[in-house]
Amino acid sequence: AARSEDDLRSPICCILGHVDVGKTLLLDKIRQTNVQAGEAGGITQQIGATYFPAEAIVKKTASLSDKGKMNIKVPGLLIIDTPGHESFTNLRSRGSSLCDIAILVVDIMHGLEPQTLESLRLLRDRKASFIVALNKVDRMYGWLPRPNGPFRASLKVQPQATQDEFAMRVARTITEFAEQGLNAELYYNNKKDVRKVVSLVPVSAVTGEGIPDLLGLLVGLTQKHMTNSLMYLSELACTVLEVKAIEGLGMTIDVVLSNGVLHEGDRIVLCGLDGAIVTTVRALLTPQPMRELRIKSAYVHHKSIKAAMGIKICAPDLEKAIAGSRLLVVGPDDDEESLMEEVMSDIATLHKMVKKSPRGVWVQASTLGSLEALLEFLSVSKVPVFDISIGPVHKKDVTRASTMLEKAPDMAVMLCFDVKVEKEAQDLADEVGVKIFKADIIYHLFDAYQAHAASIVE
Ligand code: GDP
Ligand code: MG
Repeated sequence: AARSEDDLRSPICCILGHVDVGKTLLLDKIRQTNVQAGEAGGITQQIGATYFPAEAIVKKTASLSDKGKMNIKVPGLLIIDTPGHESFTNLRSRGSSLCDIAILVVDIMHGLEPQTLESLRLLRDRKASFIVALNKVDRMYGWLPRPNGPFRASLKVQPQATQDEFAMRVARTITEFAEQGLNAELYYNNKKDVRKVVSLVPVSAVTGEGIPDLLGLLVGLTQKHMTNSLMYLSELACTVLEVKAIEGLGMTIDVVLSNGVLHEGDRIVLCGLDGAIVTTVRALLTPQPMRELRIKSAYVHHKSIKAAMGIKICAPDLEKAIAGSRLLVVGPDDDEESLMEEVMSDIATLHKMVKKSPRGVWVQASTLGSLEALLEFLSVSKVPVFDISIGPVHKKDVTRASTMLEKAPDMAVMLCFDVKVEKEAQDLADEVGVKIFKADIIYHLFDAYQAHAASIVE
């Protein structure tokens, strides 16, 4: 495949951080300030992602510099819309991340919180680049807002006491990163190796201050340091982010196409709960542009779509598709069977990751990415795992987990991450004494397990 620096794809960006730091509001602000202004044409909401074409970023970052427009080499920026671990952990392929750059959001009033540390661990494990949005600057005492402006212009007009508070809070955050073994600097002081020193971008998701800085840095860093991985490839890279039933369409998958081209009629292969799924793309859909809401159908059909994009795929037999799965396309020279084996090898790898202990807990998660992240966490935390499963908790899972009741009663525990527990499964668990813990934050599961284990040992 021809590779060239003139044919870059759009970088893909995820947002991570502790609960309540402002991830959702920040995402809204990034999207809405653009859309509302109406000036920054072409911003489109995609399936699971928002696409900012280069021209929108140029306008959005114009206020940063009087030296002229930003020179943008990438076609645009694709920001994944569901903040949190799920999308980041699912945007993966053979252990490496398909997220090119992440925004780790930190509340400037709170510093690093438990989930921030969890996110940092994920980012490091996947060797992902990230910048830090130091959010809620408007909450500092006496803050005078200058809506949607560049951060340094805002800081300059603040009362001295507010500027002092800012300096103190930044220094404290830098110390907290140092405690995690990371160097951090305000992004405009980060003159060293920007890949080794974490850039802090002060922002407010309420006033929009610092958002030009954030977008400018995202694009600047990706096109300066990642041209290699951003060179457009004809080789397909595609991941399933969500499996969703849609009225009138049946079961669909929302995917992020990070590289290559998808076509209507393509034969695709992905992971299913009962083995690999092979099916044919019936429709490739993206939402209607805002302007065209009057048009009846909610979606636009495409004959083919080039990366990077968020896409809804309609196809038969998607009921058991697993989120986090890679999606492969059967090419003219490909053997369907070997591609089926290849996608399912990702699940086999997870099974291998678990040193199936004779004494250990049961682990179940909704997606491949979250299962992997949970297993990594348990491994670091030295919690032995007996077995794993993906998808809703059924009776048969409880039955298998219950074998631990005799061997190690304190381990007769099911750690269930973001999955539904069938009523019969819960009833059986209650009856035989298997403890089911459900959570959608990894460390909450771990804490619940630890408290339970301690109470049993007593
Ligand atoms: P998430 O859990 O990280 O998605 O956080 P949310 O976006 O839901 O925000 C949590 C709370 O913080 C909400 O009440 C927001 O209004 C508030 N919030 C978020 N960002 C800011 C900010 O920049 N300034 C202020 N003052 N409040 C914010
Ligand atoms: Mg949120």
